[in-house]
Amino acid sequence: MNFSSLTVKQASNGLKAGDFSSIELTKESLKQISALEKKIHAFLNITKDLAKQTAKDIDKNEDAKLSMISGIPAGIKDVLMTKGVVTTAGAKILEDYRAVYDATAVAKLKQQGMIIMGKNNCDEFAMGSSTENSAYGPTYNPWDLSRVPGGSSGGGAAAVASGEVLYALGTDTGGSIRQPAAFCGVVGLKPTYGLVSRFGLIAMASSLDSIGCFTKTVEDSAILLENIAGPDKKDATTINTFDYNFRKLLNQDINGLKIGLPKEYFVKGLDREIEQIVKQKISELVAEGAEVKEVSLPHTEYALPVYYILMPAEVSSNLSKFDGLRYGQRTKQSVDDLLDYYMKTRHDGFGDESRRRILLGTYVLSSGYIDEYYLQAQRVRTKIIEDFDKVFKQVDVLISPTTPTTAFKIGEKIDDPVSMYLSDIYTVAVNLAGLPAISLPVGLSNHLPVGLQIIGPKFSESKILQVGSWLEKIRGEFLMPKV
Ligand code: GLN
Repeated sequence: MNFSSLTVKQASNGLKAGDFSSIELTKESLKQISALEKKIHAFLNITKDLAKQTAKDIDKNEDAKLSMISGIPAGIKDVLMTKGVVTTAGAKILEDYRAVYDATAVAKLKQQGMIIMGKNNCDEFAMGSSTENSAYGPTYNPWDLSRVPGGSSGGGAAAVASGEVLYALGTDTGGSIRQPAAFCGVVGLKPTYGLVSRFGLIAMASSLDSIGCFTKTVEDSAILLENIAGPDKKDATTINTFDYNFRKLLNQDINGLKIGLPKEYFVKGLDREIEQIVKQKISELVAEGAEVKEVSLPHTEYALPVYYILMPAEVSSNLSKFDGLRYGQRTKQSVDDLLDYYMKTRHDGFGDESRRRILLGTYVLSSGYIDEYYLQAQRVRTKIIEDFDKVFKQVDVLISPTTPTTAFKIGEKIDDPVSMYLSDIYTVAVNLAGLPAISLPVGLSNHLPVGLQIIGPKFSESKILQVGSWLEKIRGEFLMPKV
């Protein structure tokens, strides 16, 4: 068995056929983790004993084999509550916090026999595009260790790309699954808002957050989604779609499929080679019978500004509970009074980016400015949603690059927040509109992975997975980095 190159499906088939056991897979995963972690730092916490114990239990239990993901080693982004396991959200203020319950997505996967190898590194409270905002140091891109893996779910993307685990759970508020998937050369799926319960996700921006996964193949991401989707009483924004078969259209004919190319996504700032690779893939879909047409999402230029008003507003409110009394570590400095205590606790516990966003968010919500900023941004958000509604009357899916560039260097953008924010230029509008989207690797540019994004209307997961499965077939072999 070559553990690192296995897909979830192959591992599942191998387990069922008795080619190997879950404990063997788990040991291979641990071997890979101990060989690579010094270089990559994809994990904040490796749950070795828990993983081995679960694997042994699964090997003894015949019924466990019925599930597609049973016995398969995986990583979990550290913003997802994992009972009994330290869950820090990449933040110092939660350094010693041990979760007391499981996030619904985690609970569902555990029930199906997930082997939790550990918690993946991420930007503090999922805020960032490079994993450099983690209070515990960055993750390094397995394709080039001098580069970022993307963010905020950079640890999960790097862990799957390098074959430390066979899949990972991530979260996407403005691109945090798709952008690191593109930078690390793996498949990243962000489901429709409301399809996967957010219960137990340490919230960043509740109207934008969604939970999804990193895998090597489109089929694996469909399998994962089948295991985490569904209504949940603990998250009032979840919806029952009654159809949870996300593999039903995989590899089905795409003859007549209508693809839209948003012209605002192919503009200055987009790397020439990425543009060429993406356009080449589209022409290959046309050769298979798809139709392509240029469409317009006229409010695209407002997506990032709107996101950077609404998201911090929600962040400032969601992070207010971390005050050292209700949640989070207390300051170790001596304090004069309650206000001083709050200020020192929050100063010591939060990094620069969290502080920046709390300040921004508090400002846009403050009396006198709320109408000008927050409420105006809400109105423009509606315009962005309407843009998508209109184009989805003409086309089935939209295709674009996932990112304007390939992975950038560690340190390159950390002191320039605006240039960091621009790396999500093609991903944030999808969150504002609550749509599903997938990024998949379609080639290399200067030895670095290039991601292509497929966006669909709400609850069209099966459709975007179908298109993804074709692109994968046309592309051929999944490439892994030599770390
Ligand atoms: N990179 C974006 C940000 O910094 C998106 C983060 C995310 O999706 N969690 O906000």
